[in-house]
Amino acid sequence: MTAFGCRVVFYHYVRDVERTRFPSIRALSVRGFAAQLDSLQERYDIIDGPAFEQALADAGGFDRPTALLTFDDGFVDHYEHVCPELVSRGLGGMFFVAGATLGSRPTLLNVHKTHFLLAELGAERFAAAVSAALESEGVHVAATGARDGIYRYDEAPDVRIKRVLNYEAPYPVADRVLSTLFERHVDDPDVFARALYLTPGQIGEMAAAGMTFGFHTETHPVLSRLDREAQRAELRDGVRLIRELTGQRMVAFCYPYGFTHTYNADTVEVLEECGYSMAFNTARRDAMIGVDARYELPRFDTRDVPRAEEARAGA
Ligand SMILES: [Zn+2]
Repeated sequence: MTAFGCRVVFYHYVRDVERTRFPSIRALSVRGFAAQLDSLQERYDIIDGPAFEQALADAGGFDRPTALLTFDDGFVDHYEHVCPELVSRGLGGMFFVAGATLGSRPTLLNVHKTHFLLAELGAERFAAAVSAALESEGVHVAATGARDGIYRYDEAPDVRIKRVLNYEAPYPVADRVLSTLFERHVDDPDVFARALYLTPGQIGEMAAAGMTFGFHTETHPVLSRLDREAQRAELRDGVRLIRELTGQRMVAFCYPYGFTHTYNADTVEVLEECGYSMAFNTARRDAMIGVDARYELPRFDTRDVPRAEEARAGA
């Protein structure tokens, strides 16, 4: 008998962006989310976090096509739009939150400062503003590669700047630059953070409604840029924190940015030492239970799911 894998899908913003100040944030609309659930429910058994944990513990595949829904970054969207939709369908999801967003004074993460600055300024102005600020900090950014006004995708100015911020500029410099620009162009980061992220109370309510939570580091860095001790500091408190917030026992993890180069062998060892049950990357294929490593389970971006279905239908 063929054992099926599990299609793990990850989501970020789920909101009707046209009704917000930031219509160009790359979000799935509430209606688009419901439509994707319709289509997934036609093809897959959608299981919840504990069922996935159990399958992993049993090291067995699934006897039917199966999917798991995951939601990254702890947005209030997940409380307002996702949780009610899942509850109305009798489904559960797995939600990954970063420690720094959860305190009494939540911190706006650099990854989200970048998203909203980009939405506010547009790619060209964003790239110019960040380049100028980085140059004044002594971090040189090579000129962007426009040719006849056309960029290759990986040469687009905002993509280049994001790469410099995430992978090249020293973290204190990136922090300063993004904070200054965010304050200048968007809002007070502390005020913004309070409106953007789930509160501990909302997490408790979602857990009581059958949702599962996991950890997503303290501050959302590229873990492979950090030495082992700095990685440990990012991972150390997650299991305890999630248990306290939710009462659940098993705590999963997902890697910031998700690419396989954003973590290393140290990360996997520290995750195991810290007691995480498993970890997800974004390797874009179905997870094969008992075959894929427990700390390297692949996931599909929501934006790739319809395309993946079409590709299979056409194959
Ligand atoms: Zn994230």
